[in-house]
Amino acid sequence: MPYNGFMLDPAKIRADFPILSRKVHGKPLTYLDSAATAQKPEVVIKVLEDFYRQHNANVHRGLYVLAEEATEMYEQARRTVAEFIGADSPEEIVFTRSTTEAINLVAYGWAQKNLKKGDAILLTEMEHHANLVPWYMLADEIGVELRFAAVTSAGRLDQADFEKKLAGTKLVAVTHASNVLGTINPIAELTKLAHEAGAKVLVDGAQAAPHLPLDMCELQPDWYAFSGHKLFGPSGIGVLRTHRPVYDEMQPMLGGGEMIKSVGLGTVEFADPPQRFEAGTMPVADALGLGAAIKYVQKLGLNNIRAHEQELTGYALEKLGAADGLTIYGPANPTERVGLISFTVDGIHAHDLASLLDQDGIAIRSGHHCAEPLHGKLGVSATARASFSTYNSTDDVDRLVESIKAAQKVFSGGTRVAS
Ligand code: PMP
Repeated sequence: MPYNGFMLDPAKIRADFPILSRKVHGKPLTYLDSAATAQKPEVVIKVLEDFYRQHNANVHRGLYVLAEEATEMYEQARRTVAEFIGADSPEEIVFTRSTTEAINLVAYGWAQKNLKKGDAILLTEMEHHANLVPWYMLADEIGVELRFAAVTSAGRLDQADFEKKLAGTKLVAVTHASNVLGTINPIAELTKLAHEAGAKVLVDGAQAAPHLPLDMCELQPDWYAFSGHKLFGPSGIGVLRTHRPVYDEMQPMLGGGEMIKSVGLGTVEFADPPQRFEAGTMPVADALGLGAAIKYVQKLGLNNIRAHEQELTGYALEKLGAADGLTIYGPANPTERVGLISFTVDGIHAHDLASLLDQDGIAIRSGHHCAEPLHGKLGVSATARASFSTYNSTDDVDRLVESIKAAQKVFSGGTRVAS
């Protein structure tokens, strides 16, 4: 699939992912749910296995070979992450368990300490619950005001509304890419506006980090959060990137071992960041797995991945758009979105559609995708969502479209023919 002179071969890439050779209901697996979690390449699985077979020890504690190896590997993973997202130094990388935990760390580590009753936080109507609920909880606790920048009927952030509501806010928490609309938000621009207005910026990068080349120097957010598992890494590892002087305004969310310099009876001196924010035993193997996943992505090239997914999304938008009875949500232009498409099919609930597609070995997501307010805005309670990764091809899209057409026949009174 040539695009801008680049070529990724999904058939070759599929061979890197053991799970993609399994069958479901006797059919080859067509995995179209990478926005929920991406599948894992052999290199990541091997790193996890190798860690537990050869190096397992807790980090930053033991003075024996295994502990030193584990510590070095863990810190190497931090360096890999830092380089991957264009952070200035590995110290800017806090390992968390997920995007969700990273956002909560900002809510409880920074906002709870620095905001007070009446201060305003600007969110958007396209946020995932992970970037809504922590703020609702904080609003309940300390009485901050929450504002929501609108989404246009074309599925874009309404920038005029964003700017209008920005005045007087202390914090903007915005997604880089919507997990429902696919819309990519202009983060560098929004961050500049927010900083000029005196607000700090937290970016939810869960749906962007797997698909877009990232450069923190260009985007300039105060915090950037993402999850390893959507990036071909293991579940249980996430990242919060921040930096000085923001670090100095943050308090730890969790207290315990590892995050201290010294503890007395009734006294504690915290360790320097990032350790200050990594209490207890961290998911060490998963951090190494994330490092391996990033190396895998770097080998493929994020620009190639982006080009491939964009091409495939364009193809899918065309094919799905040409099918009868479908409504597609989000921008029509694939350059404005990451590789996912949410849609509804007239007369078929998204859950029924997903169940019928499953019979054909096709895995899609159905429901509100943890973005209930956005679905309210779209006027639907549920959508079906197909999402693409490097291992998907136009054949997968063709199978999806054929299977949707077969489902439509069933719902119009036809019978399903077992094949
Ligand atoms: N934000 C967005 C935009 C997401 O899509 C997701 C995952 N669906 C999250 C946050 C939460 O990620 P996690 O469950 O890995 O914490």
